[in-house]
Amino acid sequence: MSSDEQQPVETICPYCGVGCGIKVQPGEAPEDMRFMPWGDAPVNEGRVCIKGGAATEVVGHEDRLTEPLIREDGEFREATWEEALTRVVDELSRIREEHDPDAMGFFGSSKTMNEENYLLQKLARRYGTNNVDNCTRMCHASTVWALRTSLGAGAMTNSMADLEEAADVLWIQGANPGEQHPIANSQYFRQAVLEGATVIQVDPHANKTTRSFEIEETDRHMHLQLEPGTDIPLLNIVIKTILDRHDENPDEGWIDETFIEERTEGFEDLRETLEGFDKEAAAEECGVPLEDIERAAEKYAMGNNSAIFTGMGMSQHTCGVDNVQNEINLALITGNLGKPGTGVNPLRGQNNVQGTSDVGAMPNVLPGYQLVDDDEARESVEDVWGFEVPDEPGLTNVEISRAAGDTVQGLYIMGENPVMSEPDGNHVEERLDDLEFVVVQDIFLTETADYADVVLPATTWAERGGTVTNTDRRVQRMRPVEKVHENTRHDLDILTEVGTRLFGEDAGFDFDDPEEVFEELREVCPIYHGMTYDTLGTEGIQWPCYEPGDEGDQFLYENSFDTDNGLGQIEGVRHQEPKETPDEEYPLILTTARLEEHYNTGTMSRRSPTLNRQHPENFVDIHPKDAERYGIDDGDEVTVTSRRGEITVEAHVTEDIKEGVIWTTPHFADASANRLTNDVLDERAKIPEYKAAAAEISVD
Ligand code: SF4
Repeated sequence: MSSDEQQPVETICPYCGVGCGIKVQPGEAPEDMRFMPWGDAPVNEGRVCIKGGAATEVVGHEDRLTEPLIREDGEFREATWEEALTRVVDELSRIREEHDPDAMGFFGSSKTMNEENYLLQKLARRYGTNNVDNCTRMCHASTVWALRTSLGAGAMTNSMADLEEAADVLWIQGANPGEQHPIANSQYFRQAVLEGATVIQVDPHANKTTRSFEIEETDRHMHLQLEPGTDIPLLNIVIKTILDRHDENPDEGWIDETFIEERTEGFEDLRETLEGFDKEAAAEECGVPLEDIERAAEKYAMGNNSAIFTGMGMSQHTCGVDNVQNEINLALITGNLGKPGTGVNPLRGQNNVQGTSDVGAMPNVLPGYQLVDDDEARESVEDVWGFEVPDEPGLTNVEISRAAGDTVQGLYIMGENPVMSEPDGNHVEERLDDLEFVVVQDIFLTETADYADVVLPATTWAERGGTVTNTDRRVQRMRPVEKVHENTRHDLDILTEVGTRLFGEDAGFDFDDPEEVFEELREVCPIYHGMTYDTLGTEGIQWPCYEPGDEGDQFLYENSFDTDNGLGQIEGVRHQEPKETPDEEYPLILTTARLEEHYNTGTMSRRSPTLNRQHPENFVDIHPKDAERYGIDDGDEVTVTSRRGEITVEAHVTEDIKEGVIWTTPHFADASANRLTNDVLDERAKIPEYKAAAAEISVD
């Protein structure tokens, strides 16, 4: 059949969490497949950003891993699958015998699908450890913690569609949808703005979101350009303003008294926390005029429906859980939950970052966020799996890396690149070097694969099928086009083989295809229970979907929250400074973020000619006054240092960033922001503080 006669395949963009539908047209040769728009795709109606349009470029890339690799005498050599899998199984068995099951760590990935992450976490638990985690730890672990404990589910409370239809105010804090979720921004957010919604952006950096709504040029929208790490005081000013105005004029509707009384608890705690709160001093700390914050508070409180969008500018702090809790406080006291156009909505970064956690690839939860230390929940999963699961939460990503060479001796990494993605990358490399055994399963020889003993060549997103869950809880099917390299294997097939070789044919790893795995996932994951591959169809279904026939929920908590007593939890929080603040040696605050044209550690986007052409190298944004002080001109090569390392990059002198703050990205192997970032963690969610570190800059 010629390529023109082959039907294009409907699937999902492999990049961000918006989950845009795209089509892939098979070519003459498998590697010639190309992108096509999917005009009536459910989420995006055919629109895509630059990443979606370029998504097929990595599939046939010359750097693809095509054969298994085994390290011998310090060098990789090609191996057969038999040799490679035997080595993996032998080493995993040896580590368990010589140490114990907790001497292994397993990393899942949001670049891989629900079925694959489900099987990886099952493999870890069958091995006898809860040391399994995924890259959600790096982006929204704190958001998930706050949402789950205070409202019930660690996910967007609402949906892009109902926000477009109903929101009057879009409060976007620490998120940059103009850059990171372009179709959410240009389609859903833009439509809401066209219908009259106001945008309040809270971010230390002026960016594509600022420019896409011309925020600086109108009175209607606002950009509160705060100092990194001052989100709690800023929101406390907002909340205090709302409470004070309510006390002065109880009939003006500043808070929703009925909602607070009937559907929440903790309101008095919030009032007590803010007793005597000095708004002037807090505004000074934030670096934002008090009257601007008060005006923003009024816009939020007086909107009929006000929606909060939260991103990694909020979550990636040692106070990440409290940052998001304060957004929840604001939404709860104003009754902005449980109805269309409202809520607290994390914008998720990767195409399956929601699903990877949904299916239990985390050290403290089983599929469907059932806690491993909840006996009843754990036993119900054990009944299906046929083996016991450890009842203590395991280690998180960064904790596993820190324990490498100490209590952890082996790592199984599927699609992750911790050398680039974790903070303090130089230290991560040292730790990986200390491990007895590392296996990496990926499509390219990543910076982390350089430290592997065995590398297993996997297939790309376009070559295999399964499901992914987008930022608004929509479980969608990805459909395979065709395999490019004969001797690569699907992630699921590799895990099936490893599990069966390790534990035997009847151990529950012998699956023929992703649908069989999904059928088992449904059994142990209540929020997915009502879905099947057939009912997912092309539209997908938004969880929770408890029973067959449920259509899923566009927004959550219409009648009650999913907490133990059904009430939304309000809890006052106080300012906590970042763990590193500027001093004489490192007088600047370094903050980080991503670019539209690149994708996290750049494994895929740096190999995509269309994307890499836009930004082939890293750079640092610096304010003109700082640049003058340091004698830096726009375009100069500069060295940025922190207590953990240094990078050399080009300086961009711009008023986009505040004085005293510099901004750079993690995408580039030779100059990643994560050579500099601080690996200190939020105590509860264990997310690192990527967004604030002390730094210095010098011109070379
Ligand atoms: Fe892909 Fe996200 Fe762009 Fe949509 S917005 S095309 S999902 S990268």
